[in-house]
Amino acid sequence: MANKDYYSILGVDKNASADEIKSAYRRLAKKYHPDLNKTPEAAEKFKDVNEAYEVLSDDKKRANYDQFGSAEGPQFGGTGGGFGDFFSGAGGFSDIFSDIFSAFGGSSSQRVMEKGDDIFLNLNINFEEAAFGVEKNVTFNKIEKCASCNGTGAKNGKEFTVCPNCKGSGRVRYQQNSVFGTTIREAGCTTCNATGKIIKEKCENCNGKGYKKISKTVKVKVPAGIDDGQTIRMRGEGNAPIREGINGDLNIRISVTPHKILTRKGNDIYLDLYIPFTKALLGTKIEIPTLKGSYLLTIPELTSSGTVMRLKNKGVKILNRESYGDMLVTIKAEPPKSFDKSTRKAIEELDAKIELKNYAKYQNFLSKM
Ligand SMILES: [Zn+2]
Ligand SMILES: [Zn+2]
Repeated sequence: MANKDYYSILGVDKNASADEIKSAYRRLAKKYHPDLNKTPEAAEKFKDVNEAYEVLSDDKKRANYDQFGSAEGPQFGGTGGGFGDFFSGAGGFSDIFSDIFSAFGGSSSQRVMEKGDDIFLNLNINFEEAAFGVEKNVTFNKIEKCASCNGTGAKNGKEFTVCPNCKGSGRVRYQQNSVFGTTIREAGCTTCNATGKIIKEKCENCNGKGYKKISKTVKVKVPAGIDDGQTIRMRGEGNAPIREGINGDLNIRISVTPHKILTRKGNDIYLDLYIPFTKALLGTKIEIPTLKGSYLLTIPELTSSGTVMRLKNKGVKILNRESYGDMLVTIKAEPPKSFDKSTRKAIEELDAKIELKNYAKYQNFLSKM
């Protein structure tokens, strides 16, 4: 683990107070959040900021870091452990962001040894389900700790001995001499395959592996207001680690099927409303579809094509809030497909009578050229 300067990552002084650290973190986490910042370096910066905050916001880790340059105290190289990966985030994270992120590629390369792999799934829902929220069952394959042997791989969970080579830690330290002097390094124990245990009799349920591949179904609560491309994370529903530790997460990417006539941008929904051009002139009341059933829209007389009518709070619920977007209806005055001679004549008569403000302005400008 490289020794990063967490103070300069957060842009704070070595003597910064907890409040100063927190406010610096909030500012930078927003600045580099991959949902808000699409520059290529944002994800890396965001990770650094979270890592720095995780250490500096914890008194014990901060003291270790100040003294040893590491949150865990003195280091021997090799795997550090202790840091959450990107998705598990820092402690102060949830009060700033919800658990929902847009997906932007996997994070498994960042995982620490104690955590199982994350699982990534797609879930298709329709327009209304995204707007109002829905519960769905998803079924997927995962690696789960074997219950029969409690993940030990040994019969009944007890037919094993502690590895004499690593004394159960699964890791061995050795000295390496080089031109830079003597370094103490750490590696996985080969005697016990880094498990720390020597199995005397194998568990029959998992054939000594300590884990099994199973098919699992979980109920996913999709919150109202979720949008296409966003990801729901279910902590601990991912794969069990091969060794002891915590499960990875289940990341469910939401795909929203488009609506037949409504479109959505953020929390607002849009409708192109085609009406006969005569109705745009005369004014009319017309039923339109909204998220919550039909609605009688009054179009005033002399409405131009392209006029946008805003219906407050008839949009999609804003995620994790009790407020709503708007519905925007664009009036599209449609000419008839064709007309017969008498209709044409009637419209010619109408044309002769009508005076148009903008058209007159334009004609006036041309005549002075
Ligand atoms: Zn087993
Ligand atoms: Zn061993």
